[in-house]
Amino acid sequence: MYPNVLLHIDGKWQAAANGRTLDIINPATEEVLGQASHAGPPELDLALAAAARGFTVWSNLSAFERSKIMRRAADLLRERAEAIARLMTTEQGKPLEQSLAETLGSADVIDWFAEEGRRAYGRVIPARSAGVYQLSVRAPVGVVAGFTPWNFPISQAVRKVSAALAAGCAFILKGPEETPASCAELMRAYADAGVPAGVVQLVFGKPAEISEYLIPHPVVKKISFTGSTVVGKHLAALAGANMKRATMELGGHAPAVICADADLDLAAKILSANKFRNAGQVCVAPTRFIVQNEVFEPFLERFVREAEAIKLGSGLDAGVTMGPLANDRRVAAMEGFIADAVQKGARIRTGGKRSGNKGYFFEPTVLTDLSPDTRALHEEPFGPLALFLPFDSFDEAILEANRLPYGLAAYAYTRSAATATALGERIESGMIGINHHGLALPETPFGGVKDSGYGSEGGAEGLEPYLVTKFISQASG
Ligand code: NAD
Repeated sequence: MYPNVLLHIDGKWQAAANGRTLDIINPATEEVLGQASHAGPPELDLALAAAARGFTVWSNLSAFERSKIMRRAADLLRERAEAIARLMTTEQGKPLEQSLAETLGSADVIDWFAEEGRRAYGRVIPARSAGVYQLSVRAPVGVVAGFTPWNFPISQAVRKVSAALAAGCAFILKGPEETPASCAELMRAYADAGVPAGVVQLVFGKPAEISEYLIPHPVVKKISFTGSTVVGKHLAALAGANMKRATMELGGHAPAVICADADLDLAAKILSANKFRNAGQVCVAPTRFIVQNEVFEPFLERFVREAEAIKLGSGLDAGVTMGPLANDRRVAAMEGFIADAVQKGARIRTGGKRSGNKGYFFEPTVLTDLSPDTRALHEEPFGPLALFLPFDSFDEAILEANRLPYGLAAYAYTRSAATATALGERIESGMIGINHHGLALPETPFGGVKDSGYGSEGGAEGLEPYLVTKFISQASG
Protein backbone atom coordinates (compact mmCIF):
# COMPACT_ATOMS: atom_id res chain seq x y z
CA MET A 1 0.00 0.00 0.00
CA TYR A 2 1.63 3.22 -1.15
CA PRO A 3 0.37 6.29 0.78
CA ASN A 4 -0.37 9.76 -0.49
CA VAL A 5 2.43 11.78 1.07
CA LEU A 6 1.62 14.97 2.99
CA LEU A 7 3.74 17.87 4.13
CA HIS A 8 4.84 17.88 7.78
CA ILE A 9 4.65 21.36 9.29
CA ASP A 10 4.41 22.40 12.93
CA GLY A 11 3.85 18.82 14.08
CA LYS A 12 0.93 18.25 11.67
CA TRP A 13 0.68 16.26 8.44
CA GLN A 14 -1.09 18.50 5.95
CA ALA A 15 -1.88 18.94 2.26
CA ALA A 16 -1.04 22.12 0.37
CA ALA A 17 -3.81 24.72 0.81
CA ASN A 18 -4.49 24.81 -2.94
CA GLY A 19 -4.53 21.00 -3.16
CA ARG A 20 -1.59 20.87 -5.55
CA THR A 21 0.19 17.48 -5.81
CA LEU A 22 3.01 15.74 -7.67
CA ASP A 23 2.74 12.24 -9.18
CA ILE A 24 5.04 9.52 -7.86
CA ILE A 25 6.17 6.98 -10.45
CA ASN A 26 7.13 3.35 -9.78
CA PRO A 27 10.45 3.01 -11.68
CA ALA A 28 9.98 -0.75 -12.14
CA THR A 29 6.60 -0.41 -13.88
CA GLU A 30 6.35 3.29 -14.90
CA GLU A 31 2.92 3.37 -13.22
CA VAL A 32 1.70 6.21 -11.01
CA LEU A 33 1.94 5.06 -7.40
CA GLY A 34 0.35 8.01 -5.66
CA GLN A 35 0.79 11.70 -4.99
CA ALA A 36 2.90 13.95 -2.82
CA SER A 37 1.66 17.37 -1.68
CA HIS A 38 3.30 20.31 -3.41
CA ALA A 39 4.20 23.22 -1.11
CA GLY A 40 3.97 26.82 -2.29
CA PRO A 41 4.83 30.10 -0.53
CA PRO A 42 1.89 29.82 1.98
CA GLU A 43 3.17 26.43 3.23
CA LEU A 44 6.78 27.64 3.25
CA ASP A 45 5.73 30.63 5.37
CA LEU A 46 4.03 28.26 7.81
CA ALA A 47 7.14 26.07 7.90
CA LEU A 48 9.41 29.06 8.55
CA ALA A 49 7.25 30.38 11.39
CA ALA A 50 6.95 26.91 12.93
CA ALA A 51 10.70 26.31 12.68
CA ALA A 52 11.45 29.64 14.37
CA ARG A 53 9.19 28.63 17.29
CA GLY A 54 10.52 25.07 17.24
CA PHE A 55 14.08 26.32 17.51
CA THR A 56 13.28 28.20 20.73
CA VAL A 57 11.72 25.09 22.28
CA TRP A 58 14.36 22.60 21.14
CA SER A 59 17.46 24.68 21.84
CA ASN A 60 16.21 25.23 25.39
CA LEU A 61 15.98 21.48 26.07
CA SER A 62 19.17 20.00 27.51
CA ALA A 63 21.45 18.02 25.20
CA PHE A 64 20.66 15.03 27.44
CA GLU A 65 16.89 15.34 26.84
CA ARG A 66 17.37 15.85 23.10
CA SER A 67 19.55 12.75 22.98
CA LYS A 68 16.90 10.60 24.67
CA ILE A 69 14.22 11.67 22.18
CA MET A 70 16.55 11.07 19.24
CA ARG A 71 17.40 7.57 20.46
CA ARG A 72 13.67 6.79 20.56
CA ALA A 73 13.43 7.90 16.92
CA ALA A 74 16.27 5.50 16.04
CA ASP A 75 14.42 2.64 17.76
CA LEU A 76 11.18 3.46 15.92
CA LEU A 77 13.00 3.45 12.60
CA ARG A 78 14.41 0.01 13.42
CA GLU A 79 10.99 -1.34 14.48
CA ARG A 80 9.41 -0.08 11.27
CA ALA A 81 12.33 -0.91 8.97
CA GLU A 82 10.72 -3.79 7.06
CA ALA A 83 7.66 -1.75 6.07
CA ILE A 84 9.73 1.36 5.30
CA ALA A 85 12.11 -0.66 3.11
CA ARG A 86 9.18 -1.86 0.98
CA LEU A 87 8.04 1.72 0.45
CA MET A 88 11.56 2.77 -0.48
CA THR A 89 12.03 -0.04 -3.01
CA THR A 90 8.61 0.63 -4.53
CA GLU A 91 9.29 4.30 -5.14
CA GLN A 92 13.07 4.27 -5.72
CA GLY A 93 13.78 0.87 -7.29
CA LYS A 94 16.75 -0.50 -5.30
CA PRO A 95 16.56 -4.13 -4.07
CA LEU A 96 14.70 -4.65 -0.81
CA GLU A 97 17.85 -5.76 0.99
CA GLN A 98 19.54 -2.45 0.13
CA SER A 99 16.50 -0.46 1.30
CA LEU A 100 16.51 -2.36 4.56
CA ALA A 101 20.24 -1.75 5.05
CA GLU A 102 19.73 1.96 4.34
CA THR A 103 16.91 2.22 6.90
CA LEU A 104 18.79 0.33 9.62
CA GLY A 105 22.02 2.22 8.89
CA SER A 106 20.07 5.47 9.23
CA ALA A 107 18.92 4.43 12.71
CA ASP A 108 22.61 4.05 13.59
CA VAL A 109 23.24 7.58 12.30
CA ILE A 110 20.55 8.96 14.63
CA ASP A 111 22.12 7.10 17.57
CA TRP A 112 25.58 8.41 16.69
CA PHE A 113 24.46 12.04 16.59
CA ALA A 114 22.26 11.60 19.68
CA GLU A 115 25.48 10.83 21.54
CA GLU A 116 27.70 13.39 19.79
CA GLY A 117 25.24 16.17 20.70
CA ARG A 118 26.10 15.52 24.35
CA ARG A 119 29.75 16.23 23.56
CA ALA A 120 29.45 19.67 21.95
CA TYR A 121 32.11 20.88 24.35
CA GLY A 122 33.37 24.45 24.72
CA ARG A 123 36.64 25.56 26.34
CA VAL A 124 37.84 27.70 29.23
CA ILE A 125 40.75 29.83 28.01
CA PRO A 126 43.27 31.00 30.64
CA ALA A 127 42.81 34.77 31.16
CA ARG A 128 45.44 37.47 31.49
CA SER A 129 43.82 38.98 34.62
CA ALA A 130 42.68 37.46 37.89
CA GLY A 131 38.90 37.04 38.25
CA VAL A 132 38.31 36.88 34.48
CA TYR A 133 36.75 33.83 32.87
CA GLN A 134 37.16 33.44 29.13
CA LEU A 135 34.66 30.95 27.77
CA SER A 136 34.40 29.58 24.27
CA VAL A 137 30.85 28.23 24.07
CA ARG A 138 29.24 26.20 21.24
CA ALA A 139 25.66 27.19 20.38
CA PRO A 140 23.25 25.83 17.74
CA VAL A 141 23.31 27.85 14.52
CA GLY A 142 19.48 28.19 14.37
CA VAL A 143 16.97 27.11 11.73
CA VAL A 144 18.51 25.00 8.95
CA ALA A 145 17.12 24.41 5.45
CA GLY A 146 18.19 21.10 3.88
CA PHE A 147 17.77 19.77 0.34
CA THR A 148 18.19 16.04 -0.23
CA PRO A 149 17.98 13.82 -3.33
CA TRP A 150 16.18 10.66 -4.42
CA ASN A 151 19.05 8.15 -4.56
CA PHE A 152 19.07 7.48 -0.79
CA PRO A 153 15.74 8.93 0.37
CA ILE A 154 16.43 8.34 4.07
CA SER A 155 20.18 8.24 4.52
CA GLN A 156 20.80 11.53 2.67
CA ALA A 157 18.27 13.23 4.94
CA VAL A 158 19.12 11.54 8.23
CA ARG A 159 22.73 12.76 8.33
CA LYS A 160 21.67 16.39 7.98
CA VAL A 161 18.59 16.34 10.20
CA SER A 162 20.16 14.27 13.00
CA ALA A 163 23.31 16.38 13.21
CA ALA A 164 21.19 19.54 13.29
CA LEU A 165 18.82 18.18 15.96
CA ALA A 166 21.72 16.96 18.10
CA ALA A 167 23.20 20.46 18.01
CA GLY A 168 19.84 22.00 19.04
CA CYS A 169 18.76 23.36 15.64
CA ALA A 170 15.32 23.23 13.99
CA PHE A 171 15.02 21.98 10.41
CA ILE A 172 13.07 22.52 7.21
CA LEU A 173 13.77 19.63 4.84
CA LYS A 174 12.93 19.80 1.17
CA GLY A 175 12.78 16.09 0.63
CA PRO A 176 13.04 14.14 -2.64
CA GLU A 177 9.90 14.67 -4.73
CA GLU A 178 10.39 11.36 -6.58
CA THR A 179 10.83 9.22 -3.45
CA PRO A 180 8.85 11.06 -0.77
CA ALA A 181 7.15 8.26 1.21
CA SER A 182 10.26 6.68 2.75
CA CYS A 183 11.71 10.09 3.59
CA ALA A 184 8.38 10.98 5.25
CA GLU A 185 8.74 7.85 7.43
CA LEU A 186 12.00 9.27 8.79
CA MET A 187 10.12 12.42 9.80
CA ARG A 188 7.36 10.30 11.30
CA ALA A 189 9.91 8.49 13.46
CA TYR A 190 11.26 11.80 14.84
CA ALA A 191 7.75 13.12 15.43
CA ASP A 192 6.45 9.90 17.06
CA ALA A 193 9.54 9.78 19.27
CA GLY A 194 8.55 13.10 20.80
CA VAL A 195 10.47 15.74 18.84
CA PRO A 196 8.29 18.81 19.62
CA ALA A 197 6.10 20.47 16.98
CA GLY A 198 8.00 22.89 14.76
CA VAL A 199 11.41 21.28 15.20
CA VAL A 200 11.31 19.26 11.95
CA GLN A 201 9.29 20.17 8.86
CA LEU A 202 9.15 18.26 5.59
CA VAL A 203 8.14 19.92 2.33
CA PHE A 204 8.09 18.96 -1.34
CA GLY A 205 7.53 21.07 -4.43
CA LYS A 206 9.53 22.70 -7.17
CA PRO A 207 13.15 22.51 -5.92
CA ALA A 208 14.28 25.85 -7.38
CA GLU A 209 11.20 27.69 -6.04
CA ILE A 210 11.71 26.29 -2.55
CA SER A 211 15.46 26.93 -2.35
CA GLU A 212 15.07 30.46 -3.69
CA TYR A 213 12.38 31.17 -1.10
CA LEU A 214 14.10 29.59 1.90
CA ILE A 215 17.79 30.41 1.47
CA PRO A 216 17.52 34.23 1.55
CA HIS A 217 14.83 34.16 4.27
CA PRO A 218 16.04 35.75 7.54
CA VAL A 219 14.71 32.83 9.65
CA VAL A 220 17.09 30.39 7.90
CA LYS A 221 20.65 30.55 9.25
CA LYS A 222 22.28 27.63 7.45
CA ILE A 223 21.73 25.41 4.42
CA SER A 224 22.87 21.91 3.57
CA PHE A 225 22.53 20.44 0.09
CA THR A 226 23.23 17.04 -1.47
CA GLY A 227 23.02 16.78 -5.26
CA SER A 228 24.83 17.73 -8.43
CA THR A 229 27.80 20.11 -8.55
CA VAL A 230 26.02 22.43 -10.94
CA VAL A 231 23.04 22.93 -8.60
CA GLY A 232 25.37 23.03 -5.57
CA LYS A 233 27.33 25.94 -7.05
CA HIS A 234 24.09 27.83 -7.67
CA LEU A 235 22.83 27.27 -4.10
CA ALA A 236 26.27 28.06 -2.59
CA ALA A 237 26.23 31.37 -4.48
CA LEU A 238 22.75 32.14 -3.16
CA ALA A 239 23.89 31.25 0.37
CA GLY A 240 26.98 33.44 -0.02
CA ALA A 241 24.99 36.41 -1.27
CA ASN A 242 22.85 36.12 1.87
CA MET A 243 25.74 35.30 4.27
CA LYS A 244 24.30 31.89 5.13
CA ARG A 245 26.52 29.03 6.25
CA ALA A 246 26.50 26.12 3.81
CA THR A 247 27.44 22.44 3.60
CA MET A 248 27.70 21.04 0.08
CA GLU A 249 27.77 17.30 -0.68
CA LEU A 250 28.09 17.26 -4.45
CA GLY A 251 28.93 14.99 -7.33
CA GLY A 252 31.85 12.61 -7.72
CA HIS A 253 33.64 10.61 -10.40
CA ALA A 254 35.56 8.17 -8.22
CA PRO A 255 38.80 6.66 -9.51
CA ALA A 256 39.65 3.08 -8.53
CA VAL A 257 43.37 2.33 -9.01
CA ILE A 258 44.14 -1.38 -9.41
CA CYS A 259 47.87 -2.04 -9.19
CA ALA A 260 49.58 -5.11 -10.66
CA ASP A 261 50.19 -6.52 -7.16
CA ALA A 262 46.52 -6.25 -6.08
CA ASP A 263 44.32 -9.16 -5.01
CA LEU A 264 42.32 -9.12 -8.26
CA ASP A 265 39.50 -11.40 -7.06
CA LEU A 266 38.91 -9.26 -3.98
CA ALA A 267 39.12 -6.01 -5.96
CA ALA A 268 36.69 -7.23 -8.65
CA LYS A 269 34.19 -8.46 -6.06
CA ILE A 270 34.18 -5.35 -3.87
CA LEU A 271 34.40 -2.81 -6.67
CA SER A 272 31.66 -4.37 -8.80
CA ALA A 273 29.34 -4.60 -5.76
CA ASN A 274 29.92 -0.90 -5.12
CA LYS A 275 29.76 0.10 -8.79
CA PHE A 276 26.35 -1.47 -9.32
CA ARG A 277 24.84 -0.93 -5.86
CA ASN A 278 21.70 1.22 -6.21
CA ALA A 279 22.19 0.84 -10.01
CA GLY A 280 25.27 3.05 -9.81
CA GLN A 281 23.28 6.07 -8.61
CA VAL A 282 25.68 6.71 -5.77
CA CYS A 283 27.92 9.77 -5.45
CA VAL A 284 30.83 7.62 -4.14
CA ALA A 285 30.43 4.82 -6.75
CA PRO A 286 33.73 3.80 -8.40
CA THR A 287 33.58 5.03 -12.00
CA ARG A 288 37.06 5.23 -13.57
CA PHE A 289 38.83 1.87 -13.21
CA ILE A 290 42.51 2.74 -13.64
CA VAL A 291 44.19 -0.62 -14.08
CA GLN A 292 47.93 -1.38 -14.41
CA ASN A 293 48.69 -2.80 -17.87
CA GLU A 294 50.03 -6.18 -16.66
CA VAL A 295 46.70 -7.02 -15.02
CA PHE A 296 44.32 -5.08 -17.26
CA GLU A 297 42.80 -8.07 -19.06
CA PRO A 298 42.71 -10.45 -16.04
CA PHE A 299 41.04 -7.79 -13.87
CA LEU A 300 38.63 -6.80 -16.65
CA GLU A 301 37.65 -10.44 -17.12
CA ARG A 302 36.90 -10.87 -13.40
CA PHE A 303 34.97 -7.59 -13.25
CA VAL A 304 32.86 -8.44 -16.31
CA ARG A 305 32.10 -11.85 -14.78
CA GLU A 306 30.85 -10.14 -11.61
CA ALA A 307 28.79 -7.65 -13.68
CA GLU A 308 27.21 -10.47 -15.68
CA ALA A 309 26.26 -12.32 -12.50
CA ILE A 310 24.06 -9.40 -11.40
CA LYS A 311 20.37 -10.24 -11.42
CA LEU A 312 18.43 -7.29 -12.83
CA GLY A 313 14.75 -6.99 -11.93
CA SER A 314 12.14 -5.48 -9.66
CA GLY A 315 13.71 -4.70 -6.30
CA LEU A 316 10.77 -6.40 -4.60
CA ASP A 317 11.59 -9.79 -6.20
CA ALA A 318 13.73 -12.27 -4.26
CA GLY A 319 17.26 -12.75 -5.55
CA VAL A 320 17.36 -9.49 -7.53
CA THR A 321 20.66 -7.66 -7.00
CA MET A 322 20.07 -4.56 -9.15
CA GLY A 323 16.79 -2.72 -9.64
CA PRO A 324 15.75 -0.17 -12.27
CA LEU A 325 17.22 3.31 -12.53
CA ALA A 326 15.20 5.72 -10.43
CA ASN A 327 13.77 7.82 -13.25
CA ASP A 328 13.62 8.17 -17.03
CA ARG A 329 16.24 10.98 -16.98
CA ARG A 330 18.88 8.45 -15.90
CA VAL A 331 17.98 6.06 -18.77
CA ALA A 332 18.34 8.86 -21.30
CA ALA A 333 21.62 9.92 -19.68
CA MET A 334 23.07 6.37 -19.84
CA GLU A 335 22.06 5.98 -23.48
CA GLY A 336 23.65 9.33 -24.30
CA PHE A 337 26.92 8.53 -22.51
CA ILE A 338 27.25 5.12 -24.18
CA ALA A 339 26.37 6.34 -27.68
CA ASP A 340 28.95 9.11 -27.35
CA ALA A 341 31.65 6.70 -26.11
CA VAL A 342 30.99 4.13 -28.85
CA GLN A 343 30.95 6.80 -31.52
CA LYS A 344 34.43 7.83 -30.30
CA GLY A 345 35.76 4.25 -30.53
CA ALA A 346 34.86 2.61 -27.18
CA ARG A 347 34.26 -1.15 -26.93
CA ILE A 348 31.30 -2.42 -24.93
CA ARG A 349 32.60 -5.39 -22.88
CA THR A 350 29.21 -6.12 -21.33
CA GLY A 351 25.76 -4.48 -21.15
CA GLY A 352 25.30 -1.21 -22.99
CA LYS A 353 21.55 -0.95 -23.31
CA ARG A 354 18.16 -0.66 -21.68
CA SER A 355 16.66 -3.94 -20.56
CA GLY A 356 13.02 -4.77 -21.36
CA ASN A 357 10.48 -2.25 -22.57
CA LYS A 358 8.78 -1.40 -19.28
CA GLY A 359 10.49 0.08 -16.26
CA TYR A 360 13.79 1.97 -16.22
CA PHE A 361 16.02 -1.13 -16.26
CA PHE A 362 19.53 -0.74 -17.64
CA GLU A 363 22.24 -3.38 -18.01
CA PRO A 364 25.42 -3.20 -15.94
CA THR A 365 27.86 -1.82 -18.51
CA VAL A 366 31.64 -1.95 -18.91
CA LEU A 367 33.50 0.11 -21.52
CA THR A 368 37.16 -0.03 -22.63
CA ASP A 369 39.21 1.66 -25.40
CA LEU A 370 37.98 5.07 -24.37
CA SER A 371 39.01 8.17 -26.26
CA PRO A 372 40.12 10.97 -23.89
CA ASP A 373 37.30 13.22 -25.10
CA THR A 374 34.58 10.68 -24.15
CA ARG A 375 31.91 12.63 -22.31
CA ALA A 376 31.51 10.04 -19.53
CA LEU A 377 35.21 10.49 -18.67
CA HIS A 378 34.45 14.11 -17.74
CA GLU A 379 30.85 14.13 -16.46
CA GLU A 380 29.44 12.08 -13.58
CA PRO A 381 27.56 9.15 -15.18
CA PHE A 382 25.46 8.43 -12.05
CA GLY A 383 24.43 5.03 -13.34
CA PRO A 384 25.67 1.46 -13.94
CA LEU A 385 28.62 2.41 -16.11
CA ALA A 386 32.25 1.30 -15.47
CA LEU A 387 34.99 2.96 -17.52
CA PHE A 388 38.30 1.08 -17.85
CA LEU A 389 41.60 2.90 -18.44
CA PRO A 390 45.08 1.31 -18.50
CA PHE A 391 48.23 2.75 -16.86
CA ASP A 392 51.95 1.92 -16.72
CA SER A 393 53.63 3.98 -14.01
CA PHE A 394 52.40 5.04 -10.57
CA ASP A 395 52.63 8.73 -11.56
CA GLU A 396 50.42 8.09 -14.57
CA ALA A 397 47.77 6.55 -12.31
CA ILE A 398 47.89 9.52 -9.94
CA LEU A 399 47.62 11.96 -12.85
CA GLU A 400 44.45 10.23 -14.08
CA ALA A 401 42.99 9.88 -10.57
CA ASN A 402 43.40 13.63 -9.96
CA ARG A 403 42.54 14.78 -13.50
CA LEU A 404 38.96 15.89 -12.84
CA PRO A 405 37.68 18.79 -10.73
CA TYR A 406 35.78 16.23 -8.61
CA GLY A 407 37.25 14.93 -5.34
CA LEU A 408 34.69 12.94 -3.38
CA ALA A 409 35.73 9.28 -3.11
CA ALA A 410 38.63 7.21 -4.45
CA TYR A 411 39.65 3.56 -4.16
CA ALA A 412 42.88 1.65 -4.57
CA TYR A 413 43.98 -1.98 -4.48
CA THR A 414 47.60 -3.02 -3.88
CA ARG A 415 49.45 -5.49 -1.63
CA SER A 416 52.33 -3.04 -1.13
CA ALA A 417 52.15 -0.99 2.08
CA ALA A 418 54.42 1.65 0.53
CA THR A 419 52.16 2.02 -2.55
CA ALA A 420 49.06 2.14 -0.33
CA THR A 421 50.57 4.96 1.74
CA ALA A 422 51.65 6.89 -1.37
CA LEU A 423 48.16 6.53 -2.90
CA GLY A 424 46.54 7.77 0.31
CA GLU A 425 48.84 10.79 0.30
CA ARG A 426 48.67 11.74 -3.37
CA ILE A 427 45.06 11.18 -4.41
CA GLU A 428 43.06 14.41 -4.05
CA SER A 429 39.83 13.17 -2.54
CA GLY A 430 37.70 13.68 0.55
CA MET A 431 37.56 9.91 1.18
CA ILE A 432 39.82 7.03 0.13
CA GLY A 433 39.13 3.30 0.54
CA ILE A 434 42.24 1.12 0.20
CA ASN A 435 41.86 -2.66 -0.23
CA HIS A 436 38.24 -2.45 0.92
CA HIS A 437 35.26 -0.09 0.64
CA GLY A 438 34.90 1.20 4.18
CA LEU A 439 33.17 4.58 3.54
CA ALA A 440 30.00 6.24 4.85
CA LEU A 441 29.77 4.91 8.41
CA PRO A 442 28.04 7.07 11.04
CA GLU A 443 31.27 7.50 13.02
CA THR A 444 33.52 8.49 10.08
CA PRO A 445 33.64 11.80 8.19
CA PHE A 446 31.87 11.92 4.82
CA GLY A 447 32.52 14.76 2.39
CA GLY A 448 34.42 15.97 -0.63
CA VAL A 449 37.06 18.42 -1.77
CA LYS A 450 37.39 20.52 -4.96
CA ASP A 451 34.11 20.63 -6.96
CA SER A 452 32.66 17.83 -4.82
CA GLY A 453 31.83 20.37 -2.16
CA TYR A 454 32.71 21.31 1.40
CA GLY A 455 31.84 20.22 4.91
CA SER A 456 31.69 16.78 6.51
CA GLU A 457 28.49 14.92 7.30
CA GLY A 458 29.57 12.01 9.48
CA GLY A 459 31.83 11.45 12.44
CA ALA A 460 32.64 13.97 15.11
CA GLU A 461 33.13 16.46 12.25
CA GLY A 462 29.44 16.12 11.32
CA LEU A 463 28.17 18.14 14.27
CA GLU A 464 30.49 21.07 13.64
CA PRO A 465 28.56 22.77 10.77
CA TYR A 466 25.47 23.12 12.99
CA LEU A 467 27.27 24.94 15.77
CA VAL A 468 28.50 28.51 16.11
CA THR A 469 31.22 29.65 18.50
CA LYS A 470 30.40 32.28 21.06
CA PHE A 471 33.18 33.84 23.11
CA ILE A 472 32.24 35.14 26.58
CA SER A 473 34.75 37.08 28.65
CA GLN A 474 33.38 37.54 32.15
CA ALA A 475 34.87 39.39 35.11
CA SER A 476 33.49 39.25 38.64
CA GLY A 477 31.04 42.16 38.99
P1 NAD B 1 19.15 17.64 -10.79
O1 NAD B 1 20.47 18.29 -10.91
O2 NAD B 1 17.95 18.32 -11.37
O3 NAD B 1 18.79 17.35 -9.26
C1 NAD B 1 19.70 16.80 -8.34
C2 NAD B 1 19.12 17.09 -6.95
O4 NAD B 1 19.14 18.49 -6.72
C3 NAD B 1 17.65 16.69 -6.80
O5 NAD B 1 17.46 16.19 -5.49
C4 NAD B 1 16.87 17.98 -6.98
O6 NAD B 1 15.68 18.00 -6.24
C5 NAD B 1 17.83 19.00 -6.43
N1 NAD B 1 17.73 20.31 -7.05
C6 NAD B 1 17.79 20.61 -8.37
N2 NAD B 1 17.70 21.93 -8.56
C7 NAD B 1 17.55 22.49 -7.33
C8 NAD B 1 17.41 23.83 -6.85
N3 NAD B 1 17.43 24.88 -7.67
N4 NAD B 1 17.28 24.01 -5.52
C9 NAD B 1 17.29 22.97 -4.64
N5 NAD B 1 17.44 21.69 -5.05
C10 NAD B 1 17.57 21.46 -6.37
O7 NAD B 1 19.29 16.24 -11.47
P2 NAD B 1 18.67 14.80 -11.28
O8 NAD B 1 18.23 14.36 -12.62
O9 NAD B 1 17.69 14.69 -10.18
O10 NAD B 1 20.00 14.03 -10.89
C11 NAD B 1 21.03 14.07 -11.83
C12 NAD B 1 22.34 14.44 -11.27
O11 NAD B 1 22.32 14.90 -9.94
C13 NAD B 1 23.20 13.20 -11.24
O12 NAD B 1 23.88 13.08 -12.45
C14 NAD B 1 24.11 13.43 -10.11
O13 NAD B 1 25.27 14.09 -10.57
C15 NAD B 1 23.40 14.38 -9.20
N6 NAD B 1 22.91 13.73 -7.97
C16 NAD B 1 23.80 13.58 -6.99
C17 NAD B 1 23.42 12.98 -5.83
C18 NAD B 1 24.41 12.76 -4.72
O14 NAD B 1 24.22 11.87 -3.92
N7 NAD B 1 25.45 13.58 -4.63
C19 NAD B 1 22.12 12.53 -5.68
C20 NAD B 1 21.19 12.73 -6.72
C21 NAD B 1 21.62 13.35 -7.87
